[in-house]
Amino acid sequence: MTAQTLTKAGTSASPQEPPTWRAELATAFRQGDELLRFLDLEDRSCGEAAEQFPCLVPRAFAERMNRGDRNDPLLRQVLPIDAEMDVVPGFEFDPLAETSSQCAAGLLRKYKNRALLVCTGACAIHCRYCFRRHYDYTQTPSGAAWWSEALTFVQSDNAIDEVILSGGDPLLLPTNQLQRLIHDIAQIKHVKRLRIHTRIPIVLPSRITEAFIALLESSALPVVVVVHANHAREIDAAVKQACQRMRKTGVHLLNQSVLLKGVNDSAKSLIDLSQVLFDAGIMPYYVHQLDKVAGTAHFAVADEDAQEIMRSLQKELSGYLLPRLVREVPGTDSKQPLHY
Ligand SMILES: *Cc1c(COP(=O)(O)O)cnc(C)c1O
Ligand code: SF4
Repeated sequence: MTAQTLTKAGTSASPQEPPTWRAELATAFRQGDELLRFLDLEDRSCGEAAEQFPCLVPRAFAERMNRGDRNDPLLRQVLPIDAEMDVVPGFEFDPLAETSSQCAAGLLRKYKNRALLVCTGACAIHCRYCFRRHYDYTQTPSGAAWWSEALTFVQSDNAIDEVILSGGDPLLLPTNQLQRLIHDIAQIKHVKRLRIHTRIPIVLPSRITEAFIALLESSALPVVVVVHANHAREIDAAVKQACQRMRKTGVHLLNQSVLLKGVNDSAKSLIDLSQVLFDAGIMPYYVHQLDKVAGTAHFAVADEDAQEIMRSLQKELSGYLLPRLVREVPGTDSKQPLHY
């Protein structure tokens, strides 16, 4: 470590991190009509859908959309539309039964060796298909509670060798809080790996600050960062640079996507995505079949179509660039592969 990074690592412990990314987030689009105007499109967003789950789109993400294209695959992921208000049988409020896998405040445990900590309810972007759009985050600890109950639970079960920081988006926490949390997790002897699930390197790459890089460098545990991009155009030069800086610290970078109608439901789109991810130093991990959450039916891709897409993908891509098609089935002991 150079003297320079040492100084920077030192500052990461102070609460005064340069607020540039927070300032940037404060300028995010919070109204569908505002975003549409920015894209030279006529207003046809849905106020009612936005009341249920507010619109939130960082400008850095909106700038990657094609102006004048109402069907832009990035826009479709984030614009509140009327279809969200449709009541479709089979699409429920808690399809994953997450409420029942909570084993301590803010801690979800579905699988034997890994526990997932809901660090915050907030995200830097609101994806309309989100499986947590109706999740009850009021249980998420904050302030003095300091996840102590969750960490006590992890401590009490030595089958847990991996802790996943998730949310919401854990990178919305101040770096010094993250550092403290990661430090506390690393104290638990049987925890061997730390995983961070975050969409922020994709949607708000300015959050990958020097202080955050220093935190990754100083982690006592090996770190796996799982980002979330659905379309090749989400990866621009700033995202690539942020990912390359993370990789230099030795973290493993993986990507998960959700298969979404009108966004990435073609072999071509997923092939482009895998190639662009690789160029950014990110390995494809999962492509998820949509969780059947109320308000997201218009994004659903039929299993047969998903399988057909995967067969084409398999013919065109190197084996290591092929994401695994999975779905979540409540009560099972892992994500379930969908064979094709
Ligand atoms: C998806 C998920 C995981 C991670 O599963 P992997 O297959 O290891 O990626 C862990 N815990 C919970 C509660 C999950 O929902
Ligand atoms: S970033 Fe992830 S958790 Fe947040 S709204 Fe999007 S899909 Fe949901």
